[in-house]
Amino acid sequence: MHGTDANHLRMLSILDANPDPVYVADPESHEMLYANQALESAVGVSDNRKCYEYLHHRSSPCPFCTNDKILGENFGKTYIWEFQNEVTRRWYRCLDRGITWPDGRIVRYEMAIDITDRKRAEEESGRLASVIRHSTELVNLAAPDGTMIFLNDTGKKMLGISEENVAKTNLMSVIPEHFKDMVRDEVLTSIAGKGHWEGDLQYLNLETGGLTDVHAITFKIADPETDDLQFFANVSQDITGRKRAEEDLHIKDRAIATSFNAIVISDFDGKLTYVNDAFLHMWGYTLQEALKLNVADLDSNRDEILHIVKDIRVKGFSIGESVAIRKDKTLFNIQYSASLVTSSANEPIAMLSTFLDITGRKRAEEEKLVLQDQLIQAQKLEAVGRLAGGVAHDFNNMLGVIIGNMELALEQPGLSPLLRTSLEETRDAAERSAELTRQLLAFARKQTVVPKILDLNVTVEGMLKMLRRLIGEDIDLAWIPDCDLWPIKIDSVQIDQILVNLSLNARDAIEGVGKVTIETKNVPLNEAYCGRHAGFVPGEYVMLAVSDDGRGMDHETLANIFEPFFTTKTLGKGTGLGLATVYGIVKQNNGFINSYSEPGKGTTLKIYLPRYTGRPDRVPVKGVVKNRVTAEKGGTETILLVEDEAAILNMTKAMLENLGYTVLPTGNPGEAIRLAEERAGEIFLLMTDVVMPEMDGCRLANKLRSLFPNLKCLFMSGYTANVIAHHGVLDEGVHFIQKPFSMKGLATKVREALDEK
Ligand code: ADP
Ligand code: MG
Repeated sequence: MHGTDANHLRMLSILDANPDPVYVADPESHEMLYANQALESAVGVSDNRKCYEYLHHRSSPCPFCTNDKILGENFGKTYIWEFQNEVTRRWYRCLDRGITWPDGRIVRYEMAIDITDRKRAEEESGRLASVIRHSTELVNLAAPDGTMIFLNDTGKKMLGISEENVAKTNLMSVIPEHFKDMVRDEVLTSIAGKGHWEGDLQYLNLETGGLTDVHAITFKIADPETDDLQFFANVSQDITGRKRAEEDLHIKDRAIATSFNAIVISDFDGKLTYVNDAFLHMWGYTLQEALKLNVADLDSNRDEILHIVKDIRVKGFSIGESVAIRKDKTLFNIQYSASLVTSSANEPIAMLSTFLDITGRKRAEEEKLVLQDQLIQAQKLEAVGRLAGGVAHDFNNMLGVIIGNMELALEQPGLSPLLRTSLEETRDAAERSAELTRQLLAFARKQTVVPKILDLNVTVEGMLKMLRRLIGEDIDLAWIPDCDLWPIKIDSVQIDQILVNLSLNARDAIEGVGKVTIETKNVPLNEAYCGRHAGFVPGEYVMLAVSDDGRGMDHETLANIFEPFFTTKTLGKGTGLGLATVYGIVKQNNGFINSYSEPGKGTTLKIYLPRYTGRPDRVPVKGVVKNRVTAEKGGTETILLVEDEAAILNMTKAMLENLGYTVLPTGNPGEAIRLAEERAGEIFLLMTDVVMPEMDGCRLANKLRSLFPNLKCLFMSGYTANVIAHHGVLDEGVHFIQKPFSMKGLATKVREALDEK
């Protein structure tokens, strides 16, 4: 490069005008020999003459110095490299070459072209490409006809398309059939019109055939000048997880909404913000009404609920039972559990309460208690009955002796009036005692009865007149018979006893004016009813109810009324045996009894007697046993009297003789048989005790009757032993007299037995 100074200068001025930096440096000394204007403005003007100081702000030669690349054998060749100025951060493409400076020196000539903008653009698109490549979303470019041009890795995986196949695949082939119409009608229209579409759809995996839920954004990339469609760009996000979460949430929502438990969400003031269907059903509100309520409105005790709400804020929860109140003001039992709802940051944000209707359970528990009570009561009465029955038996015999002897003594002529009075009083007292024993025996189900098939209405009607007299004029007696009442089989005397006892109690319960109602009704008792009443057996019953509007009973009294000797009446007024008798009678006839009473609200006793379903025995007894012989008649026949208790034997003998009969008395059955054989033909009647040590009265009677078929029999007993009666029920046609008996009673029974055809 030899030239003139002028040439040289012209060169320099051209280089100075060059917009890219140009410089010349001495490769050995690193002295800058020339730098143009552009270099100075790019690097900054500097006094440093060393190229590494000037260009690179270094204190020693640069490790990347290009001297060895352009000198020596490379001399004259251009070496091209890129570098970034560390201070200005600008990028240069450098062209270095060894040249001969005008003074003959070998120098380094470099021209640097600023490529910062291109570099930055490259970097940016590199980054973008990397982002797209590594994106977890599907990114796809397609030609206007749908042919894929680019698909990132996520897309390849999602759609099951390998790199080689991308360009062979049309976008429409990954749209499942059920979305194709939507894509054609909606997506493409939207892109043509607005330039983009966004929405949910599914993609088909071409390899596996599986579907992926995606949220897609598709837009058109148009030619900036003609606005013609160049590409479809499509970015799609896999939303399978989100969909599942949405479905899960939906399931949870539905679970709460359709839960059997009432579920309520409220704020901390108790205002309801959410209720489920079960709640609306349980409380009877509409949704609109419910959302205006406070939790305190749900309970019969507002104050307590407000207290609980406060408690929950402190403790975080509350569990318990309460009495809730419905919209229609009816009450029901609930079990509740309430707790705080906390945010993910553990801040309380609401209150959640769930309620279970436990009315049924509560009722069952109560019913169980009542049943247990009833059972215990029945067992107690059973035990007391056995005791009472035992005592009454012996007591009865002794009363028989007393009464009989009194009557005999009173028959004596020439009694002083004083003696007569005291004998009469003694007899009356003994008779009252006998009445007590009779009641005890009734309670103990040891009363001897002659059941007949009867119409309860007829029996009650026969008693009404007497009952009216019994209860007095101030008390109204109402009679409400059911029509076509089923028949029952019972000793009508027992119905009389029931009616008298219940009416007397009703009378005593009424102060002043009142009303007693007697009612009959056919009642089928079902399983459900019997399940709730201990001892009740399902079936058809005839009910006899006696109600009064008297003072009623408290719970305590009601629990004890059937107990013998339980009375609330003053001494002398009540014996406490009335209802015990009724109880025994009802039990003896396989019936049930129910009592209803409340203080001040009157009392109802309902007796259920089983419907008689067997064949009618002859004609049902209408007008009942009012035909009991009334005449106190004696006779002259000979009677064989068997009784192991000497006192009773003697007394009975005396009584019979007093009535005119001839008596053959004996204390044991063997002797009786001997006597009968001896006096064959003379004896008309065998009168025998039932329970005797050697041979019971029944067997004795059978034995003698086999010898003398015309012999009549009359059994006597304090209570009915099983030999002549089953559970106290006499076989039809058996003559029986209950101890103790009066002369009158004896006369009647003996005549009945003797006069039998
Ligand atoms: P008593 O009548 O001799 O007291 P009961 O066995 O007939 O004995 O009755 C027992 C108790 O039951 C009575 O003392 C009374 O307290 C109560 N009672 C029975 N019937 C009624 C009724 N109709 N109203 C109120 N209390 C009654
Ligand atoms: Mg009474």
